[in-house]
Amino acid sequence: MIVVMRPDATKQEVQHVVKLIRDLELTEHIIEGSDLTVVAVIGDDRKKDGSVLEQAPGVDRVMKVLAPYKMAAKETREGKKTLVDIGGGCVFGGKHVPVIAGPCSVEDEDKIMVAARAVKAAGAHALRGGAFKPRTNPYAFQGHGENGLKMLAAARAETGLPIVTEVLTPSEVDMVSEYADCLQIGTRNSQNYKLLEACGKQPKPVLFKRGMAMTIDEWLQASEYILAAGNPNVILCERGIRTFEDHTRNTLSLSVVPELQFRTHLPIVIDPSHGTGHARLVPAMAKAAIAAGCDGLAIEMHQDPQHALTDGAQSITPEVLTELMGSLQRVAQAVDKDCSPGLACAAQAGAR
Ligand code: PEP
Ligand code: MN
Repeated sequence: MIVVMRPDATKQEVQHVVKLIRDLELTEHIIEGSDLTVVAVIGDDRKKDGSVLEQAPGVDRVMKVLAPYKMAAKETREGKKTLVDIGGGCVFGGKHVPVIAGPCSVEDEDKIMVAARAVKAAGAHALRGGAFKPRTNPYAFQGHGENGLKMLAAARAETGLPIVTEVLTPSEVDMVSEYADCLQIGTRNSQNYKLLEACGKQPKPVLFKRGMAMTIDEWLQASEYILAAGNPNVILCERGIRTFEDHTRNTLSLSVVPELQFRTHLPIVIDPSHGTGHARLVPAMAKAAIAAGCDGLAIEMHQDPQHALTDGAQSITPEVLTELMGSLQRVAQAVDKDCSPGLACAAQAGAR
């Protein structure tokens, strides 16, 4: 259930609504929009008596949210998108569609710097790179940990690109949060609810990838762990799911884009690299994702994919990324979006 306050409702009236909610042994989450405040009511549905709240001063209306994801549901923000700003002018959820690009892993100081310069020169808007890698095989390269984070921070210092990097365990959340501009939760951890809560309690935005065997419904409910823990800045990232089809590494379900735009106010990013597993398929799927209305892309790029420590097969080169950025802008314009290269351009185009 959500309580929509009138645009002229006072702080005292909002607090009175909060008290009524607590009297019903329920909890509240206050969402302050630019025009009005909405109070989400969380807890046992049987205790939710809308009539008590409807009478309270300053209340415009009380609405039932049928979806089990109350905070992620579109109605909760009255149909308005959430804008997630990860810094450096990179905002997800508006008219501008930012592109996050970079290697799968942070390999060494020089390589991440070369990659960062290439990402910037191509006109992409944020740098990705894993310092903590979730590997299927325990003997495979696990990432450089905190040293990798320091390398990313150095790349940001030189290029100004905000950095997106994965966190694997609740105990490492504070450390990763100190360095990163946006924390990635990977597909394997999408049901690690303690990790989701921990990411909800730190201040940086979260790029939350879909579990490879998760339905959209489960994904949105899982996002609620981050939102309910106090972090409103969640970006959903589709990276493909497991199916019987084996011509791609995963099956990239692009129909989630319009479906999620219908169900949630959270921005939606598409990762065509993990979604396909093949560099040659990435440009077409990136363009298709923008045509479908996504709010951003996450793309693996490596200057020497054949020698990449991880995910080389699906990493495009800087040259391909540069060319792709031009095509993405043309596709974006066709669907009334903007994917102009470079953050300065993005800011001029108006993030929203
Ligand atoms: C990654 O982004 O490199 C990664 C491990 O992603 P996913 O969790 O989607 O497999
Ligand atoms: Mn990868």
